[in-house]
Amino acid sequence: MLKIKNNNCKIIKRILFIFLFVSLISCASYICFYYFINQQRLDKKQQEITQQLQDAKNLAESKEAKRLEPVYISLPNTQSIKAIVSDYHQTNNIWMLVNKTNPISTTYTPTNLKIPNIYTNPEKGDEERSVRADIEQPLIDMFAAAQADGYSLMIGSGYRPANLQSIYFNSLASSVGESIANQSIARPGQSEHQTGLTVDISTVARNCYLLDCFAKTNDGIWLINNSYKFGFILRYPEGKELITGLIYEPWHFRYIGIDLATALYESKLTLDEAWPYLETARNQLIANEAIVL
Ligand SMILES: [Zn+2]
Repeated sequence: MLKIKNNNCKIIKRILFIFLFVSLISCASYICFYYFINQQRLDKKQQEITQQLQDAKNLAESKEAKRLEPVYISLPNTQSIKAIVSDYHQTNNIWMLVNKTNPISTTYTPTNLKIPNIYTNPEKGDEERSVRADIEQPLIDMFAAAQADGYSLMIGSGYRPANLQSIYFNSLASSVGESIANQSIARPGQSEHQTGLTVDISTVARNCYLLDCFAKTNDGIWLINNSYKFGFILRYPEGKELITGLIYEPWHFRYIGIDLATALYESKLTLDEAWPYLETARNQLIANEAIVL
């Protein structure tokens, strides 16, 4: 009887042991399985995050490459030029178009006006003898080159604020009538002289001072043929009056930088005619996010 009891006890112990063993194995298997599945899920998540970071990096790099990609302007009959990365609609931009259909604010004043270190009209006030400081050196270089070729030039008129332009316009309008004045002199806000980037040039001796015949003088011919090398254009050429809206002014020169001045000289376009080409380049630069408006 006691032996049977011992045997039962052993069997129960063995069953309990087997049960515990199986339970332990099951538990361990479950933990291993859970760990494996979870690890796979984490690995997959990690891969997704890495891929997203790489995609974002690739996108940023391609955007940066596009932003730095140069944009070229192809005017007729000349080599393409590189567009400058700035907004040409800003009044202080050296390519800003100012004319009857693109007036600027009459309150605009350039911030860096100065009387350039060249001969300027002593009959004018300090304001009108001034230009933007950033075109002083191109003017000095141009006047020195002219001097080397035997021509003595003078700035007859540089910067003009809108109120001075108004005085000039009204004075002419009162003597020849508003309609004729409108063809001969820009109204306030429509004058490039307000940008500080424009000069009326004469000879020191003032032969043909602000007259058509200046174009026939050796000084005038030299300027027409050489000013672009220093970044200046003859802004109101003969035969383009309907486009510029103003009469032929062989004395009026506007600074736009050597590249564009050379392109306009070779293509024989006015700044007004070149403006759509500049606009296309500006739009491309904006699309490339090279220009932040
Ligand atoms: Zn002028």
